[in-house]
Amino acid sequence: MSTHLDARDPLVVNTHELVRRAGATRPFHGTAPAPADLGIEVIGVPEGAPLRLDLDLESVVEGVLVVGTVRAPLVGECSRCLEPVSDEGVHRITELYNYPGREADEDELFLDDELLDLEPAVRAAIVLDLPFSPLCRPDCRGLCPRCGLNLNEHPEHEHADDPDPRWSGLSGLDLGGDRAADEGPAAGD
Ligand SMILES: [Zn+2]
Ligand SMILES: [Zn+2]
Repeated sequence: MSTHLDARDPLVVNTHELVRRAGATRPFHGTAPAPADLGIEVIGVPEGAPLRLDLDLESVVEGVLVVGTVRAPLVGECSRCLEPVSDEGVHRITELYNYPGREADEDELFLDDELLDLEPAVRAAIVLDLPFSPLCRPDCRGLCPRCGLNLNEHPEHEHADDPDPRWSGLSGLDLGGDRAADEGPAAGD
């Protein structure tokens, strides 16, 4: 648990004036470069991109409570059309940093002496908020399942031999296509 923190790290805050002074508060506003691997496979914050932190640090009996927001640019890929997606996320942070040596669960955070490492709080706030299936826009039409054309750019796209749904009652007359291969819609379940 005792990783030695570097007080010069922009995500490390010195809480000296808060320690053991329950009720004392101080704001923390700053910008820090995003650490590596801040995200999930399909979307995340590019390493080094600016994280904007607007926090209040409050001294409580158990330690220091950190409450506020982190804003971060997000870059990813649309899960339907595979085009790049960029966005800015505003993520809420509420995290208690316990005094060292305090009895607490394994996954809780601790102060390291008087230093507080914001990285795990930032990481949890952002990663838990990210969509598993990001979309470039809510009504993205995705790609044509047959040829991969982007249907947002070509909304009228269709294949000449697509069965016209109005004729589905007549499909006995169709051109003898390979029906077995048509089983199972691409959408899955
Ligand atoms: Zn899309
Ligand atoms: Zn197509």
